[in-house]
Amino acid sequence: MKKLLTVLLACAMLLGLAACGGDNGGQQANNGGGTDGEKKETLVMATNAEFPPYEYWENNAIVGIDAEVAAAIADKLGMELRIDDMAFDSTLVALQSGQADIVMAGMTVTPDRQENVNFSEPYAEGHQVIIVTEDSEIASSDDLAGKKIGVQQNTTGDIYTTDDFGDEAIQRFNRGADAVMALSNGSVQAVVIDLEPAKAFVAANEGLKILETEYATEEYAIAINKNDTELLDKVNAALQELKDDGTLQQIVDRYIPAE
Ligand code: GLN
Repeated sequence: MKKLLTVLLACAMLLGLAACGGDNGGQQANNGGGTDGEKKETLVMATNAEFPPYEYWENNAIVGIDAEVAAAIADKLGMELRIDDMAFDSTLVALQSGQADIVMAGMTVTPDRQENVNFSEPYAEGHQVIIVTEDSEIASSDDLAGKKIGVQQNTTGDIYTTDDFGDEAIQRFNRGADAVMALSNGSVQAVVIDLEPAKAFVAANEGLKILETEYATEEYAIAINKNDTELLDKVNAALQELKDDGTLQQIVDRYIPAE
């Protein structure tokens, strides 16, 4: 760790931070650079691009609400955006070790996470919902007692259901899509996950439905390293402008059609 920091520091001093991003196996997307000679500083966003419509791969690029909002913020900051795709679990680790500047991953603000990182002002409302099979007897969260519940590891769905129903009731998956597959093949009886990806997963798999009664309401925000208060201020200012001029809503509307 110390060695890594020293290397990073040396790198920063020698080349200027912009050149020190480091490569991680080509799993990255870029919003294109400026053409005006001067190399822009890079804003590195960590995410888990398996969370439609917030972030997902399409034609070899990471797209979605978070990807576009991050690009708009980077633009306002005069920076070039790079998106690094990793396990949801790893995003905050990347942030805390300085490998990423921001995390945008449909990430819910929670008190535990706030102990380790700062969050921007919220930019979206999130909802934890319950997916069941169409013929399921489960009609609300009360019926989840005694059932096997699938979740994506370390998400708020995991945290809340573990609190409510105990560790033994929970089966954790690396990807939300895997939890949904387990529901389809009967190894879990319900999946608790965020509403928008739930809609995408249910649309892609026959025989599943989302219960009307939701499990929890929460807020998504951008996570930033506690030491980086200057970036936090800049991101909040940029986000406010994107809210005020309607850009944020336009991006959301492109990905979440009104019902
Ligand atoms: N909103 C959930 C959380 O923050 C899930 C996020 C995700 O899976 N990308 O825990």
